[in-house]
Amino acid sequence: MARMPAVFVGHGSPMNTLLQNPYTDAWAKLGKGFGAAKPKAILAISAHWYINGTAVTAMSMPKTIHDFGGFPQELFDYRYPAEGDPALAARVQKLLAPMDVGLDQGWGLDHGTWSVLAHVFPEADVPVVQLSIDRTKPAAWHYDLGKRLAPLRDEGVLIFGSGDVVHNLRLIDRAAMMGPNSEKMGVATAPAWATGFNDHIRAAIAQGDDGAVIDFETFGEAARLSVPTPDHYLPLLYVLGARDKGEATSFPIDGIDLGTISMMSVKVG
Ligand code: ZN
Repeated sequence: MARMPAVFVGHGSPMNTLLQNPYTDAWAKLGKGFGAAKPKAILAISAHWYINGTAVTAMSMPKTIHDFGGFPQELFDYRYPAEGDPALAARVQKLLAPMDVGLDQGWGLDHGTWSVLAHVFPEADVPVVQLSIDRTKPAAWHYDLGKRLAPLRDEGVLIFGSGDVVHNLRLIDRAAMMGPNSEKMGVATAPAWATGFNDHIRAAIAQGDDGAVIDFETFGEAARLSVPTPDHYLPLLYVLGARDKGEATSFPIDGIDLGTISMMSVKVG
């Protein structure tokens, strides 16, 4: 079985589920790139399952979770009907033993996962298991977990991180979010700290300097503003952890949406 790539995607607004734009076009292209050799399953690490502890979704039919407010009804009506994969959940539990990994029956697929997969695999024909992000652990621990999950790539599993390298909702450009009557729609200008941090992380990834990505806080004020909480940043570390030394790495899409949300994607392999 061909080795699967590992992919991190900056998911941005949940509205991307229903939109077509350069970001969603890049996600669709990612999916088409697999051709007939689609993954056997996806292990998704989403910013939106950020809990005390490690768990994997273990149900055979995960529900679509609408974990947000203030969006149109059409988004709440959206369903991503991918199956789960209880065997993969058990495999992850075994791979990480003796670590305590819960087999979860209560979560499902959150919008970090389905807003992107809606474009990557629109037919929802690849089973999906979500792995939680343990909020009590430091960045290096998450990177190490990615390393331990890397063998799944040889078993046909796509390791899929979904977050945003820069994610500051407090400083978002509200004018750019307004409807089609807003002159600023889609043309928010990113502040220097956002582009500076995004470029710094991108360069570190390209150079194989995973240490700089793990120790992102050393980048100072720009890091503090770009990563006010680690939830959206950490999924990237799973994908880099699953990368071999010197392995080909590309950036299917990049850009800063709404001034303070990085849409950078990273493809390993
Ligand atoms: Zn998010």
